[in-house]
Amino acid sequence: MKFSKLRIVGFKSFVEPMEFIIGNGLTGVVGPNGCGKSNLVEALRWVMGENSYKNMRASGMDDVIFSGSLNRPARNTAEVTLYLENLDRTAPSAFNDADLLEVSRRIEREQGSNYKINAQDVRARDVQLLFADASTGARSPAMVRQGQIGELIAAKPTARRQILEEAAGISGLHSRRHEAEIR
Ligand code: ATP
Ligand code: MG
Repeated sequence: MKFSKLRIVGFKSFVEPMEFIIGNGLTGVVGPNGCGKSNLVEALRWVMGENSYKNMRASGMDDVIFSGSLNRPARNTAEVTLYLENLDRTAPSAFNDADLLEVSRRIEREQGSNYKINAQDVRARDVQLLFADASTGARSPAMVRQGQIGELIAAKPTARRQILEEAAGISGLHSRRHEAEIR
């Protein structure tokens, strides 16, 4: 499975529909301060199921919706779609038949957000598990936030264990066990 494109509409500073092609190898995002580099990475984390608005540098999840500028009114919805190529058939079994997976999350002001995989409504959990099974996700150690290395050094053993489990690729199993236990 491979990330091939990210489409962002109305999310933070990305008011007009924007598509970012993710090519093979290394992709760099460069630009002046405040141009939206961190917002772009947050869009990627958000579509993978991030549910803490604090991790989105926001004071409520609605803050991820474009809040207006001098010459543009605020929007009431935001949508992020991540396109995944599955030509190598490494997607988790429920989605393994598809060549392309389109994972999208849409938020409406005061209505919360919903998720779709290939146009079908799914739970946040399904999206989080899809990425956890592929050893990535909004909280994956592959996504290193500013200040995160310092936090890691000061972390409690349980928090460090979570990072080791992510690295070992077993966090998907772990969250399924948790889900089974709370039922
Ligand atoms: P730096 O190089 O300083 O890290 P950056 O390229 O990472 O900058 P971001 O932090 O991604 O920049 O973008 C910050 C900009 O996004 C600010 O101008 C802020 O006003 C804008 N922004 C954040 N949330 C929203 C929102 N909901 N609506 C409109 N603009 C927003
Ligand atoms: Mg930044």
